Amino acid sequence: MVNGNLFILSSPSGAGKSSLISALLKQGSARPLQMSVSTTTRAPRPGEEDGVHYHFVDKASFEQQIKDGVFYEHAEVFGNYYGTSANAIDERLAQGVDVFLDIDWQGAQQVRMKRPDVTSIFIAPPSRQELENRLRGRGQDSDEVIADRMAKAQAECSHYQEFDYIIVNDDFDTALADLTTIVDNQRLKRSQQEQAHQDLFTDLLAND
Ligand code: GDP
Ligand code: ADP
Ligand code: 5GP
Repeated sequence: MVNGNLFILSSPSGAGKSSLISALLKQGSARPLQMSVSTTTRAPRPGEEDGVHYHFVDKASFEQQIKDGVFYEHAEVFGNYYGTSANAIDERLAQGVDVFLDIDWQGAQQVRMKRPDVTSIFIAPPSRQELENRLRGRGQDSDEVIADRMAKAQAECSHYQEFDYIIVNDDFDTALADLTTIVDNQRLKRSQQEQAHQDLFTDLLAND
């Protein structure tokens, strides 16, 4: 059994992480892929389902989970808590599933310290103006929330140098192809291939 790979996707809000991950999952793949479901104290947006997009909890419950050591990482983003629970991820990786984390730069730093083998990807918008257009076009957030997210976009982008890969999400299909290449690249690494093809290497190296 080959262990799954752990990937982080970060970007300023609105650059296209959710859309790219959804498209990657829909496109299918030779190996199973899953999105990690974070826990958050923010209110569900229209159409978001508990347990699917996030585990929605109140602040007291989140703080209790921090004390209980449930999270791999947690951070406060836009005034709400967000966290990634360790158990769910470790179990899936052990089952050979590649797991994607959609987390902010603070979470990315914490996960890199715990899991140096993580592959981190920064999604950049093609311009600041286009980022704002997408946040408005998404039609999910108030003007005030959009202004707050635009103000934080520069801070998120200032961490781009901490990431292994950068995808500029201008043309969506090109960005999706780039993401697919990164995932495939990871799977072709020697460390993965020698686990997947143990019998082959035993055969090739046999002294007859
Ligand atoms: P952000 O990256 O900083 O804005 O946050 P997320 O990536 O978690 O979510 C992006 C936004 O797109 C949210 O407002 C979602 O409601 C919306 N969205 C569109 N498609 C999806 C999807 O497949 N999953 C999730 N979680 N959100 C989606
Ligand atoms: P994030 O998860 O990073 O906040 P989303 O995936 O929600 O971003 O994308 C923000 C908005 O931009 C969505 O309405 C999405 O449909 C749109 N979008 C994403 N990628 C592109 C692209 N390459 N071209 C045009 N619109 C895009
Ligand atoms: P949204 O509220 O738009 O879904 O997400 C807001 C921000 O929180 C995004 O930047 C997203 O990457 C980040 N985020 C979502 N889940 C987690 C998580 O589990 N941990 C951390 N650190 N950030 C998260």
